[in-house]
Amino acid sequence: MINTKTAALQKLDSAHYLHPFTDHKDLASKGARIITRGEGVYVWDTEGNKILDGMSGLWCVNMGYGQTELVEAATQQMTVLPFYNSFFNTSVEPAIELAALLAEITPPQFNHVFYSSSGSESNDTILRMVRRYWDIKGEKQRKTIISRKNGYHGSTVAGASLGGMTGMHEQGDLPIPGIVHIEQPYFREVVKDHPELKDLSEDEFGVLAAGWLEEKILEVGADKVAAFIGEPVQGAGGVIIPPKTYWPEIQRICDKYGILLISDEVICGFGRLGTWFGCETMGTKPDFMTFAKGVTSGYIPLGGAMVSDRVVDVLYQDGDFNHGYTYSGHPVACAVAVANIKLMQKLDLVNRVKNDTGPYLKQAFESLNDHPLVADAKTEGMVAGLVMLKDKANNTPFDDDDNVGMICRGHCFDNGLVMRAVGDRMIIAPPLVISHAEIDELVRLARLALDATWADLKAKNIVQ
Ligand SMILES: *Cc1c(COP(=O)(O)O)cnc(C)c1O
Repeated sequence: MINTKTAALQKLDSAHYLHPFTDHKDLASKGARIITRGEGVYVWDTEGNKILDGMSGLWCVNMGYGQTELVEAATQQMTVLPFYNSFFNTSVEPAIELAALLAEITPPQFNHVFYSSSGSESNDTILRMVRRYWDIKGEKQRKTIISRKNGYHGSTVAGASLGGMTGMHEQGDLPIPGIVHIEQPYFREVVKDHPELKDLSEDEFGVLAAGWLEEKILEVGADKVAAFIGEPVQGAGGVIIPPKTYWPEIQRICDKYGILLISDEVICGFGRLGTWFGCETMGTKPDFMTFAKGVTSGYIPLGGAMVSDRVVDVLYQDGDFNHGYTYSGHPVACAVAVANIKLMQKLDLVNRVKNDTGPYLKQAFESLNDHPLVADAKTEGMVAGLVMLKDKANNTPFDDDDNVGMICRGHCFDNGLVMRAVGDRMIIAPPLVISHAEIDELVRLARLALDATWADLKAKNIVQ
């Protein structure tokens, strides 16, 4: 039995609140889980359940819940100046301070930032900047942006078009013209359609998968391609960690044809992979980086695009760029971001992920590979994923209607763990401040959920 407060809230929720990416009939029948507070890596719901947040909210609460420095930065800025815009030759102190700090912590080619309030908006901004860049350069025909299937770049019209989610494209006539997709570097998925590739090594597959970019460039016409966009590690697509050979080869191909490289760092930025930005782990030198989520640890919305000197030198030498948001450089959001980054620096958090908690998570999480359901359990910094297989010995995947991800996710919740399901993959991205003991707890709860899932599947005769 749920308590009366939960019941009342669930009723109002389903009567009035349209949720993102949600089947409302399903939600109304089950009732939402209502989260009320958080501390460290844990959240609590209206039923009093304590839940280990293995997803950092939605890949963003990197510093964990209850960080008073961030709260104080927001309170202070709200008191002094809650809002002023950056249009009409005006500026605000926190936006300036953050811009300088970002120039310091990002790779050397980045010295400028354009602010928005989300990852989606930032990719919209970049799409327009890329096209404007080529216009000014006198190559107006360079309009096409190449992206990847199963990539995620947000949910606005441009973001969803750049992304490679068929479920999103099917609704709303997407992608918009000028955006094309190549296959993702996910070996297990690609081999389903191309069994002849099954004997390739990881590294060989990485080079092959990057080669699809070159094929597409030649198909579109090398003089018509403006840019390539990708996430260093695909997040929403199911934590797809590409082979080490993939990104250097992508960089080589972008350089060869002079096309701009956009690294969507909305998840991988701000320490997630054990470097400040994912491109540093992957060995690329992008012309743009999209950021959001971790920049403020999700305490307040903020996003932006880092723009390289190569682009700034062209873009801002030709009059106005007719683009901007009311909340570009929002002083409260920027003040929280400054406090967030300074706290990360004070705790030396990026190095801790790289040298301490990241390796610790790797050893703990990858031990799940011995489970009868699990293959490919793999981490990169503080992000991890695994795939569940119906018959491990024969590498047989589950059918979609086995619903294995949803079953496992349900058991995770019941055991007090948030782990996300993407098809038959289970993924985590815990707060970067997680301790060794909490990592042990996370993996212990994940194993319990996998055991319970296995038992369910056996009872239904889906596995033997
Ligand atoms: C979440 C995400 C986005 C979209 O960010 P929003 O703030 O939800 O608009 C874009 N790119 C990546 C890689 C993301 O994970």
